[in-house]
Amino acid sequence: MSKKSIKDIDLKSKRVLIRADFNVPIDKETGEVSDDTRIRAALPTINHIIDSGGRVILTSHLGRPKGEPDPKYSLRPVAKVLEDLLGRNVAFVEDCVGEGARRVIEAMQDGDVVLLENVRFHAEETKNDRGFAKELASLADIHVNDAFGTAHRAHASNVGVAEFLPSVAGFLMEKEIKMLGKAVHDPEHPYVVILGGAKVSDKIGVITNLLEKADKILIGGAMMFTFLKALGKPIGDSLAEDDKIELSKEIMAEAEKKSVELVLPVDTIIAKEIASGVEKKTVSVDEGIPQGWKGLDIGPETLKLFVSKLEGARTVVWNGPMGVFEIDDFAVGTKKIAQAIAALKDSTTIIGGGDSVAAINKFNLADRVSHVSTGGGASLEMLEGKELPGIASLISEEAGKKNDD
Ligand code: ADP
Ligand code: MG
Repeated sequence: MSKKSIKDIDLKSKRVLIRADFNVPIDKETGEVSDDTRIRAALPTINHIIDSGGRVILTSHLGRPKGEPDPKYSLRPVAKVLEDLLGRNVAFVEDCVGEGARRVIEAMQDGDVVLLENVRFHAEETKNDRGFAKELASLADIHVNDAFGTAHRAHASNVGVAEFLPSVAGFLMEKEIKMLGKAVHDPEHPYVVILGGAKVSDKIGVITNLLEKADKILIGGAMMFTFLKALGKPIGDSLAEDDKIELSKEIMAEAEKKSVELVLPVDTIIAKEIASGVEKKTVSVDEGIPQGWKGLDIGPETLKLFVSKLEGARTVVWNGPMGVFEIDDFAVGTKKIAQAIAALKDSTTIIGGGDSVAAINKFNLADRVSHVSTGGGASLEMLEGKELPGIASLISEEAGKKNDD
């Protein structure tokens, strides 16, 4: 799993094509970047290349343009933010390939920074078109992939170019590979996995893969109700997937066989509708949820149970909120679990999944865990044990050859 990173190669006077993740929100009215988190996150990689005397050529996608230029999705506003953050000039080029880009890049000096326009302004990008990848690659000497969020997709700017250029990991990618890779392939035990979120069907791959590695799997979120229904508990109008009941039974049987402790909630917070300020009750799972009510969070006894299961864990992976955390009335379970994870000592704690990451940020606990994964779909696929194309295409550390773990 070890892949080469920018620390392992000579960057002096090299033209370095970085695939960054500048897929940032743009304010519709002002046309400016409204959250620069992802741009800041790219700074260590960019600064390392500048400090090493390399020439920085940045590429990214932004939004989902339809394979043609669309000013709504221009990366130009990112260039401005980058200039402020780096304290140096950033040349913006209106097309990521072609004569314009070539001319600007030919004139670059060591330490210069260029940002190329949205790679998805070309339909060839998402098709991983070989000719387009070759054209992009021809602008540089080295490729740095720092866009973990797109690592589960084989596109031209992250994977295609690696056929023509040596491709190494940037710092963000390196940390994702290290942290998620270890959790999937070589975790320290006891290993506790906490799963929640909306659907069992979204997480089947994660459950089945982690059943092979984890010591305990705690299940909250709406997902719990499919399992509880499979056990014959009344779940009222809670979200459940009837077509996944059999699968839930299989998962429970499999856990038993593998001696993995699969822990389900013992109580739940219920309400008649998903809204703030509505009447709430706590019911035990055995007592069950009456018709007309739905379970929207885990209850206080479940919290105690889950927190006790986390004690002494050396590895914790958390994916999926425990309840409808977007509404404060149903955010207690998610918040308390986040706090319990943050309070663990001597434990590698990893948070993955778009909404789980939003939750940990909402509770200001992101800097109290070992790793907050930046890729929603990509982190899920990692946890499913899949090999991601955007990682497979990186040069391996051992042999210096490609596609070799
Ligand atoms: P992630 O993005 O972290 O992988 P998911 O997308 O699987 O998480 O699930 C997040 C969603 O699950 C949230 O929008 C949350 O409101 C919803 N959710 C969690 N618990 C429940 C519940 N008991 N009933 C309905 N929705 C729930
Ligand atoms: Mg989600």
